Amino acid sequence: MGWFRMGKEKEVEIACTFCKGTGKDPFAIMSPLSTCYVCQGRKKVRLASPNARCNYCWGRGVSPIGARNACPACRGIGLIPVSKEAQTCPTCDGKGEDKSGLYCLKCHGSGRAIPLLT
Ligand SMILES: [Zn+2]
Ligand SMILES: [Zn+2]
Ligand SMILES: [Zn+2]
Repeated sequence: MGWFRMGKEKEVEIACTFCKGTGKDPFAIMSPLSTCYVCQGRKKVRLASPNARCNYCWGRGVSPIGARNACPACRGIGLIPVSKEAQTCPTCDGKGEDKSGLYCLKCHGSGRAIPLLT
């Protein structure tokens, strides 16, 4: 998947947004004992820094369409790595969502244009 240039970017570790740091599937789709598929039960996720709140799911990590799924834009993390120079995304006007209700492919839902990502 053409995701981000991780390269030398700094990485930070945060509590998993999707399962709220419990490591368990928040919706217990398979069973209440299922592990969270976003953090694979590790309770924490790593992502590149700097990052911005995912505007598509409002930082909740849950898809605004098809509830129960991890947000497709931020992969359930609720945050999206952005370039330091990132500015408000002109394609979605910072909403992180395109006109059809899907996440904005240009900024990947962050609402911030990422010059590195084309
Ligand atoms: Zn998790
Ligand atoms: Zn999201
Ligand atoms: Zn956008």
